[in-house]
Amino acid sequence: MVKAVVGANWGDEGKGKITDMLGQESDIIVRYQGGSNAGHTIINNYGKFALHLLPSGVFYKHTTNIIGNGVALNIPYLINEIKSIVEKGAPTPKILVSDRAQIMMPYHILFDQYEEERLGGKSFGSTKSGIAPFYSDKYSKIGFQISELYDEEVLKEKVCRVVEMKNIILEHMYHKPTLNPEEIYQLLLEYKRQVDPYVCDTALYLHNAIKSGKNILLEGQLGALKDTDFGIYPMVTSSSTLAGYGAIGAGIPAYEIKDIIAVAKAYSSAVGAGEFVSEIFGEEADELRRRGGDGGEFGATTGRPRRMGWFDAVATRYGCRMQGATEVALTVLDVLGYLDELPICVGYKIDGEVIKDFPTTVKLAKAKPVYEVLPGWKQEIRGIKEYEDLPENCRKYIEFIEKEIQVPITMISNGPGRDEIIKKPR
Ligand code: GDP
Repeated sequence: MVKAVVGANWGDEGKGKITDMLGQESDIIVRYQGGSNAGHTIINNYGKFALHLLPSGVFYKHTTNIIGNGVALNIPYLINEIKSIVEKGAPTPKILVSDRAQIMMPYHILFDQYEEERLGGKSFGSTKSGIAPFYSDKYSKIGFQISELYDEEVLKEKVCRVVEMKNIILEHMYHKPTLNPEEIYQLLLEYKRQVDPYVCDTALYLHNAIKSGKNILLEGQLGALKDTDFGIYPMVTSSSTLAGYGAIGAGIPAYEIKDIIAVAKAYSSAVGAGEFVSEIFGEEADELRRRGGDGGEFGATTGRPRRMGWFDAVATRYGCRMQGATEVALTVLDVLGYLDELPICVGYKIDGEVIKDFPTTVKLAKAKPVYEVLPGWKQEIRGIKEYEDLPENCRKYIEFIEKEIQVPITMISNGPGRDEIIKKPR
């Protein structure tokens, strides 16, 4: 049985916690897209961890953790991340890396920085992890697939070809130091040495696992609104963030993904530039940012303050629809207990007309939020275990959202810890 945990919003919804929790009953956890450009925060018996590349199941002794072919694999980053969790006392995780995953090269990261510099104020707000140059190269067929490390002659020839092209851009477009093909070749041999113990045909491994009835969890990174096709293009990421892509990025049949858990946050937050209709500013935003998440809403990778907003039912309904959500986990609800009133964005006003369906970016840029305001519950809800024990106004907030997004909310997260979860009857 294959399940996916994915984001219904702009990322940072708390997928890490939900994946970590569901990891308990999973045999295999797979990362299938993105790279080390976003982080999951996990709090468990070993401490607090910000994982960027490793699947959030690495803390269980019983799970196999897979870096799928769809991932942008930064090899030294992976090795360091494994080391850092083991150093903190967690058991050595079982990790498999797809022989078809492609390698994040140091020059991808440089190109990312150079391009942001070149764009100046018009930049995309990239995390500068090399993601866009990486996926550009992958689809231009000048990336390096792990399997290519195993034919040194062909590899050497390809390195020369790629470096020649990169150097033209470095020299003439960015006026930056050029690359040395021999150094790049040696680096790739070093990467091979580092990653070799983990490499396997993970698609075949998953095929056999599905056949023998294993529980497999696909872990998405970022959220639907950052998807290359269906997000707020061009302020999106360069790989698909949708559950559907899990089939490609893990190498399994699409019809095997039976359950899609979209994680939605009880308010909105976003990092980087891009349209954000229900965004709030000033003291109102500062207070929510300060109280939000676990110790404030600041990026797990960059430390940047996140942009804050009220819950956006238009965007979340769309996010759930594009994910194909079969159920929703609503997270960080505990943070909202201080508010007298909770606005929920239920429509977008564009040129005098109110729409309910999330539009393309050009229209989105003109959208103004239409709010419905619900009363607050003015109470701490951490520690509550049963749905009926939540304050009435809190339940009303959840049920209002459920009606708006048209997908059953089955889990409510009322704290960052693994056990701080309320199962909601359907
Ligand atoms: P992810 O990338 O979707 O996994 O999200 P992040 O880990 O970046 O952001 C979620 C943040 O909220 C982390 O700091 C979590 O520890 C925290 N968190 C997750 N669920 C809850 C919750 O229900 N309540 C509170 N207060 N914090 C939560």
